[in-house]
Amino acid sequence: MLYVIGLGPGGRSEMTYEAVEALQKAEVIVGYTTYIRLIKEFITDKEVVTTGMKQEIDRCQKAIDIALTGKEVAVVSSGDAGVYGMAGLILELVSKMAEPIEVKVIPGITASIGGAALLGAPLMNDFCHISLSDLMTPWEMIEKRLQAAAAGDFVICLYNPRSKGRPKHLAKALAIIKEYKGGATIVGLAKDVGRKDEATIITTIDELDENDVDMTTVVLIGNKETFVSNGLMVTPRGYQL
Ligand code: SAH
Repeated sequence: MLYVIGLGPGGRSEMTYEAVEALQKAEVIVGYTTYIRLIKEFITDKEVVTTGMKQEIDRCQKAIDIALTGKEVAVVSSGDAGVYGMAGLILELVSKMAEPIEVKVIPGITASIGGAALLGAPLMNDFCHISLSDLMTPWEMIEKRLQAAAAGDFVICLYNPRSKGRPKHLAKALAIIKEYKGGATIVGLAKDVGRKDEATIITTIDELDENDVDMTTVVLIGNKETFVSNGLMVTPRGYQL
């Protein structure tokens, strides 16, 4: 069996029981070094296959090859494995196999959901996820999606908001969103959710300081009704109070 496990955003307390059980069952754990470090308590007696960030295809193929030898293998992703994680790539590779192996995808708390709980209740109405990474999606497509989401006044969760390789993407994204939603729109930043340096900031599109955003931050941009109360970000569901 090949398990594809979402570890949640941080440590053990954000993991599901199902994820913990699958990790315990696995004989071999495959994943990016940082995530392996987050789960070191589970892997004292297991074989570990780690690879760097940009070797996803190799890593997933290796996991499949080991599963073919009859071992229980777990591929781990942070958050949910099906949200910009390894689940899709594993299933794409398996779809090309003459005799497909059995895969079980185990869900995890994705960064937006973990961050939303820290920020209050920002995702109470329709929302979407957009990654600002143009490594595999052309930037023009990302802009189109930002426009469409902003025009529809979705609450927007931005993943991969900033990195050294693309320092301007967040500013460009915010400029597009501002055109539709306005600069006073509430923005929540959730950084290192579930981890040692966990922090949140609630601000607005106009007041956001880009230095507060890095690659382990998820950016939640409210809709036109989103407000701040008692230091928390709230998007009304529509109840008449
Ligand atoms: N599969 C992951 C997402 C991977 S994409 C998930 O479901 O959460 C990587 C992006 O996710 C980061 O750039 C950041 O925007 C977000 N992210 C991942 N872990 C995070 C955490 N602990 N705190 C805040 N954001 C996080």
